[in-house]
Parts: sequence; structure tokens; C-alpha cells
Amino acid sequence: MSEAGDSERIGVAVVTGGTRGIGLAVAKRLTADGYDVLLTYKGDADAADAAKTELAGSGRQIEVIAADISTADGAGQAIEAAMQSLGRLDVLVNNAGITRDTLLMRMSDDDWDVVLTTNLKGAFLTSKAAIRPMLRQRSGRIVNISSVVGQVGNAGQANYAAAKAGLIGFTKSLAKEVGSRGITVNAIAPGFIDTRMTAGLSDEMKAMLLERTPLNRFGTPKDVAGAVAFLVGPDASFITGHTLTVDGGLFMP
Ligand code: NAD
Repeated sequence: MSEAGDSERIGVAVVTGGTRGIGLAVAKRLTADGYDVLLTYKGDADAADAAKTELAGSGRQIEVIAADISTADGAGQAIEAAMQSLGRLDVLVNNAGITRDTLLMRMSDDDWDVVLTTNLKGAFLTSKAAIRPMLRQRSGRIVNISSVVGQVGNAGQANYAAAKAGLIGFTKSLAKEVGSRGITVNAIAPGFIDTRMTAGLSDEMKAMLLERTPLNRFGTPKDVAGAVAFLVGPDASFITGHTLTVDGGLFMP
């Protein structure tokens, strides 16, 4: 049995879009820290199988379900499944996200709707479902994965920037609503992180981003996972409504 398996469970976490990229790194970190986890995904069943296999050695209970969190049914199912199979809910990481990049003049209604519905409405629906058990427990941690693009904007990403900026406002509002019940709500704004989402960027764009990053490297999913672990852990118990930028210094206000 692994070390984590020998230790006591410290809580239950749901990570949306947890089967690859940043979400998978978060799941790995949280299982290593002693959480049982439920991961949701949409579409990519191969990644889901691989994630399950990879996390099986953690010694923790792992649940992986196909649940589209951009619908109330999918978001509700994810939280319901966590409560049924893992018994409680301590942490929700709203990580599922997509891009449909193009200049505004060419952006279709569908490009706009699907990005807003997944990145922003998905977090609203999943948080709404998760808040019930957290309110009953009078404790909980919600972390929304926003983006520096939501803070500074980016040509070709008006839909994504609007959704990610919306998540920051959502984070602050929900933090004010549930703080008195022992629940914190924070956001993380990653910069350029090396995942499938950014794999399509041109070499030119990557070189430009690298040049502007004081720490002189791209971020890894593990860098973001470390920030999540901090925000859900005891050292962050007096932090709520905050957006933590994880970008190697790329964008400084
Ligand atoms: P990714 O494409 O590798 O992973 C996205 C995950 O979300 C997948 O598991 C996918 O199945 C899931 N997903 C997508 N739509 C879903 C839906 N409707 N329901 C359930 N699951 C869904 O992307 P990533 O780079 O790991 O990004 C994770 C998060 O981090 C996203 O919110 C993204 O916007 C944000 N982010 C990424 C970067 C970056 O540079 N990679 C930077 C800033 C923010």
C-alpha cells in the first residue's frame, strides 16, 4: 500500500475536468495530500481511463465520471456521485474549461455561448450543487480556475476572457455569501501552462511569451496544483475572495 493509503483520509474533493492537464495534476496532488477524489470529464474517454490508471496507485478512493458540468443535470450528477460514493464534500475545484479562439468579427454565437457556458456557467452550476452539503457541514473550499487572460484580456479570446473575468467576480460574490458558514471561495489565474489547451499556439507566440516571463520558463500543471493545495489547506483558512496569479511574472498589474 502507498503511504497515502496508510494515512487517514483528510477530505473529499471534486475536480471538474480532472482527467488531464491541470485538473489531473490537481487530482494527483490532492490524492498525495490525503484526499479521496471524484473527477469529471467530457468526451475524452482515453484520458479518463489513463487518469484512473495513473491515480490507482495513490491508495486513495478515486471516482471518474463522464458528467458535462455545463448542464444542471451534469453538475448535479457530479456532486451527487461524490456524496453517494465518498460520503461528503470538502473541496470543489472548478477546473473544466475550453477555448474557441478567433477574432470578434469572426466569432460565432456558438463560439461565444459554448465558452461562456462551460467556463462560467459550469462553475455556477457545480458550485450551486456543492454548496448544499458544504453549508450542512459548515465548512468547504471552492477554487475556481480562471486565467490571466481574464485579468488582462487577449486578442482572439474575447469569449474566454469574458468567461474568466466573470469567474473572478463570481468568486468574490460567492465568497461574501458563504464566508460566515465556514466556506472559502478563491480563484487561481494561471498564465501560460504547458497542456493540450496551449499545445496549438504557434512557436512564435510561445517564444514571445517566454521572453516576457521573468522566471524564464513555461508553467507546468504541477505549478497550478501547488497553488490549489495551498488554497484548500489550513494555511489559507483566512483567505477568501482572492485571485492568486500563477504565471511566472508574465503579467504584473
Ligand atoms: P485541458 O483541455 O487539458 O483539460 C480540460 C478538461 O476539462 C478536460 O478534462 C475536459 O474533459 C474537461 N472538460 C471540458 N469541458 C467540460 C465539460 N463541459 N464538462 C466536464 N468536463 C469538461 O485544459 P487545461 O489546460 O488543463 O485547462 C484546465 C483549466 O485551466 C481550464 O479552465 C483552462 O481554461 C484553465 N487555464 C489553462 C491555462 C493553460 O495555459 N493551459 C491557462 C490559464 C487557465
